[in-house]
Amino acid sequence: MKRSERNQYQLAVAAFAVCVVLGLHSAQAQPPSFTEAMMTAAERSHYERTSTFNEVIEVLDALDSETDLMYRETLLLTREGRDVPIVVLANPAVSSPAQAEASGKPVIYIQANIHGGEVEGKEASLIAMRDILFGDKQHLLDNQILIFVPIYNADGNDALRENSRPNQELSPVMTGVRTAHGYDLNRDGMIVEAEETEALFSNVIQRWDPDLLVDLHTTNGTWHGNSLTYAPSYATAGDASTSKYTSEVMLPALKQSVKEKYNLDFDWYGGYDYRSWPPTELRTYHHAPRYLTNYMGLRNRMAILSETFSHDRFYKRVHTANVFVEEILEYTHRHGMTIQQINREADRRVAAASMGRQNGVQFSMVPREEPLDLLTYRYIPYQKPDGSTDFVRSAELVTIEGVLNYNRFEARKTALVPSSYIFSAAFSGLAAKLKAHGIRVETLKADTAFSGQQFLVHEVGKRTTVQNGHINSLLSGEFVDTTKTFSRGEYVVSMDGPLANLIFYLLEPESDDGFAYWNLFDAFLEEELSLSESAEYPIFKAL
Ligand SMILES: [Zn+2]
Repeated sequence: MKRSERNQYQLAVAAFAVCVVLGLHSAQAQPPSFTEAMMTAAERSHYERTSTFNEVIEVLDALDSETDLMYRETLLLTREGRDVPIVVLANPAVSSPAQAEASGKPVIYIQANIHGGEVEGKEASLIAMRDILFGDKQHLLDNQILIFVPIYNADGNDALRENSRPNQELSPVMTGVRTAHGYDLNRDGMIVEAEETEALFSNVIQRWDPDLLVDLHTTNGTWHGNSLTYAPSYATAGDASTSKYTSEVMLPALKQSVKEKYNLDFDWYGGYDYRSWPPTELRTYHHAPRYLTNYMGLRNRMAILSETFSHDRFYKRVHTANVFVEEILEYTHRHGMTIQQINREADRRVAAASMGRQNGVQFSMVPREEPLDLLTYRYIPYQKPDGSTDFVRSAELVTIEGVLNYNRFEARKTALVPSSYIFSAAFSGLAAKLKAHGIRVETLKADTAFSGQQFLVHEVGKRTTVQNGHINSLLSGEFVDTTKTFSRGEYVVSMDGPLANLIFYLLEPESDDGFAYWNLFDAFLEEELSLSESAEYPIFKAL
């Protein structure tokens, strides 16, 4: 859409908002294309408030009552009793994954509010749905199926308080909290402990199998100069093609289109140390698949992490998030079939990949080939009374050229890919965890001897940080080649399907984000190690 059209539409929306607020009924006023009930709490309050869970539902009800293109399901009933909606928009409407699949259209999934205090995506996705159903974005349903979860962490959103997001400059004053009952939902991609994650995996990721996940956040404070920063699903043990396309084709195109259409600066996610001004490198967060966007790459699907700039005012952050969502959907409107094709090819490649190759289990952050021009606020050095130097941030935006962009990861440790993993029937909890990921777990029909690799654990190395109540464990030890007989009824996980890379990352003993890392075997291993110098890792690799 041309910018002038967009502006006219926004003016119409703004005029309507003013009329609603002032109670005007002018004959000259442009007829509204939607009703007042379809406006978000943020819009109605002039961005002094963010929507509560009930207000999100009220807007969805208002949209739903005027369209046949919306279908709603329940994501989950939260601990506090909130019935969190999944909203499916399609034209013609679909009410089942089978209908979605039969349509042949790619499925795009927009998720907001996983961190309850980061409220922008929630408002922005409601506005996007309204634009798609009743505004100037109706073409976005021509050839794709859109799934929205506008309020993922519903309980966290409604734990409203002041100062839960100080970097958002208290706009809005009251926001929810990051976690759901103290649990950070965006660290749960592998161990799947929260009800929200279980529900997401079964009711969205496995049920609707989206080709692209967009996860909407707000940064925690770096004073770069962009309105929004982004990251792909980082390539680790997964097939690299999906991450490569996202980072080398899709994200650069989006960066360019938001600049051209809206004069907004979007760029790679990251932070730098202003105490070594001027910055020479920008560093991102982490590669681990416990972060949901990174998780998608292990399933041969694409993902985009979106982080609006926390220091912008609330209305700007919502506008920015809305622009990004709608531009992503414009992109998928044009290129959705390509995305779907790349994902399906990755499925086939992973399923057919031969055992015996090496794949990464631990990764290091490395710079991308292309350095970036970093837009940022300038920091100025000054001398403190004790003679030391500190820095004060100025209001001046500067571009620093040639900054190394640490937004890529390389394996620093690898392991052999087996044909299957086998473990004792005593580990039924492990089987259940695999099933939560949609992984097929079978049992042996007869006693069977396997040759392969047994990992001998020498030490359960405890990390120093605590996350979600875990002190993570990194195992050290060695693989030995051996033959082992397993009994009828014991578990087998075959590596001949499209989820092989996910299985590998979850089950490898030295994986930096697998089940061992999340303490699933600590009690077992520590007891064994109290009796002996080494302990057998409870999962055997058949080759
Ligand atoms: Zn966040």
